[in-house]
Amino acid sequence: MKILHVAAEVLPLVKTGGLADVVGALPAAQRALGHEVSVLVPGYPAILEGAGKLSPVEGFAVPGGRLLRGRLAGDVELLVIEQAARYARPGNPYVDASGQDWPDNLQRFVLLGRVAADLCLWDPQIDLLHAHDWHAGLAPAYLRADGTRCASCFTIHNLAFQGIYAYYEYAFTGLPEAFYRFDGLEFHGDWSFMKAALSYSDAITTVSPTYAREILRPDLGMQLDGVLNYRRADLRGILNGVDYAIWNPETDRALARTYGIDKLAAKTHNKRALQQDMGLAVAPARPLVGVVSRLTLQKGMDLVPGAIESLLAADQIQLALLGSGDRELEQAFAELAERHAGNCAVSLAYDESLAHRIVGGADAILVPSRFEPCGLTQLYGLRYGTLPIVRRTGGLADTVAGYRAQAKQPTGFVFETASSRALKRVLGRVVEVYRDGPTWRGLMQNAMRCEFGWDRAARDYDKLYARIRRG
Ligand code: ADP
Repeated sequence: MKILHVAAEVLPLVKTGGLADVVGALPAAQRALGHEVSVLVPGYPAILEGAGKLSPVEGFAVPGGRLLRGRLAGDVELLVIEQAARYARPGNPYVDASGQDWPDNLQRFVLLGRVAADLCLWDPQIDLLHAHDWHAGLAPAYLRADGTRCASCFTIHNLAFQGIYAYYEYAFTGLPEAFYRFDGLEFHGDWSFMKAALSYSDAITTVSPTYAREILRPDLGMQLDGVLNYRRADLRGILNGVDYAIWNPETDRALARTYGIDKLAAKTHNKRALQQDMGLAVAPARPLVGVVSRLTLQKGMDLVPGAIESLLAADQIQLALLGSGDRELEQAFAELAERHAGNCAVSLAYDESLAHRIVGGADAILVPSRFEPCGLTQLYGLRYGTLPIVRRTGGLADTVAGYRAQAKQPTGFVFETASSRALKRVLGRVVEVYRDGPTWRGLMQNAMRCEFGWDRAARDYDKLYARIRRG
């Protein structure tokens, strides 16, 4: 098959979250299965500068710009929309330096969807357009409006972000007026990119089976549970994979020392190095809990200070946190670190290398999300023998077997209720089990044996594509 992925970020060029990891890895896994695969992204400076050699695609028109072609790892074609007026600005793909949405995000992502659909008209060999998250959400609507043969699949990486705009801005899309209806892209008197994708894609996926069920419920459906229920026959949960070429403790160059399931002792060097790097007391007997996360309510980060404070004060646990996000949460963690210097270290940054060192050096990795479409950090934790502590929701529920549950092969710790009390209870349990060396090591081994590679996910997408592709 000839497959075109469309997304607003792609590893290793631009990343704000798990979306980039997926768009960086799934296409290569599909290429390995023998498909011809391209990835279309906006030409932010980081992409134009980081992509290596790019050459113009002759004969394809982009209003006010041009389309460039390069290569990604794994023999995947990279297609970049160069259009200075919309994309030539530094920093985050979605927001300016003060955290405000770019005022022309509508036009920026209309352009992404339009170019994607134009490519499918221009190259009739493309069998399948795979759009990711709201930024690419108009592409399936354009395909439908154009009557293109190409089939479309849309993946929800996070339903919370929908790209909602007012009716008076609809004309910017260039879509037919007839699409502005309750079973089209109209959304409570406005319209949204997400609703367009949910209405006009041939298949809808999200990134774990549990999240696929959860979003059918009013409490987690983000006001789209109605349309999702309407389309439920076309909705699948396909669990994300991990790129083990990047996240592998046996080869990870960011670590003080590499290790594996047969060389577990070497992990303690990474713990010590991390404690030293982050200004924590070198205390081998205390479990060191890591966090690598956006600091938001979605991620349950507000639950952490209240849950962990007394354990920090009693020298029972340590916390190494890397994250950025909501100002109030940043402040709360900065204050926590001040109150518990030596046991709590906080880096309010985005730092790939430190993320690897935390995943490699901590004993456990905490992901207490209120909702979590898939979650990647717990999967990294599993491979590194850094036991995930997670809330039972979405992809976290699908990937971590909680100690104490009936699971024969527990791989971490799971709690139910999104409250500091419930989290405190599970952290107490972590402290207890950590004291029991053989049990903890058994959990580490179970965790490290888990396989969440991309190959399985790529095969699942294959089956889905086969169902929807046309002639
Ligand atoms: P989401 O996409 O909702 O933020 P995921 O768990 O799917 O959550 O993916 C988050 C990705 O971003 C992971 O690869 C994680 O390591 C990375 N990440 C999150 N925050 C940071 C940070 N402050 N520094 C470095 N990497 C980060």
